[in-house]
Amino acid sequence: MSKATGVFRPNGFVIAIDGPSGAGKSTITKLLAERLGYLHIDTGAMFRAIALAVKRAGISLDDEEGLARISRGVSIAFERTNGCCRVLANGEDVSAAIRTPEISQLTSLVSSKKVVRDQLLTLQRELGRDGGVILEGRDIGTVVFPNAEVKFFLSASAEERGKRRFLELQAKGERITLAETIAAVIKRDDQDAQREHAPLCKADDAIAIDSTGLSIKEVLAGMEQIVRDRLKVAGDRR
Ligand code: C5P
Repeated sequence: MSKATGVFRPNGFVIAIDGPSGAGKSTITKLLAERLGYLHIDTGAMFRAIALAVKRAGISLDDEEGLARISRGVSIAFERTNGCCRVLANGEDVSAAIRTPEISQLTSLVSSKKVVRDQLLTLQRELGRDGGVILEGRDIGTVVFPNAEVKFFLSASAEERGKRRFLELQAKGERITLAETIAAVIKRDDQDAQREHAPLCKADDAIAIDSTGLSIKEVLAGMEQIVRDRLKVAGDRR
């Protein structure tokens, strides 16, 4: 039993890491999950997989029924091999296809739809139910697991986040400029923060971390310490 929430989870804590795009959530979550022996659940990848299916099926964003059908029909799985996590949608490896700038932007629009969110909410709660998981996203601490034992809200300046995204995209051979990447990051965050359903925002009880100017190692060390302190208090030393 966790004293933090009074919720019993057989495999340990649920840890929520929310924040805007490019704040370093994926990198940090992956490393923290490895250190704690927890499962890493990238909820953004789930929304991206739905957006890709919406695009391929040519569904309009106004077509609620079509969006619901696609959301129900895409079975999403994470495959972990040799430290690398592939995203499978109906068995197809979509890891690369879901990370293009076009799909990033479309995902932000698709994820604003309640029918899509409702479908993924059920799945995310099932995946995290037994604990021993870190979920990264936008609404994990506010909506998906409001009783998560540890919540972080990770951010960084828009310039730094844009720069990180730009370097990632450049490494993949995407033809995009730094200015375009920063503008795209800001646009997506505005959309995510202003939407009606489950907007990007910090939970009142989340620990805010600004990673601007900090190394991954520094951010990771601080977060790991916080989690280990809470595990200790909860009497769970896994
Ligand atoms: O984290 P990532 O950049 O992969 O997320 C892609 C998009 O998915 C976000 O811009 C946001 O619109 C959406 N998303 C969401 N809720 C989550 C995770 C992601 O709305 N929990």
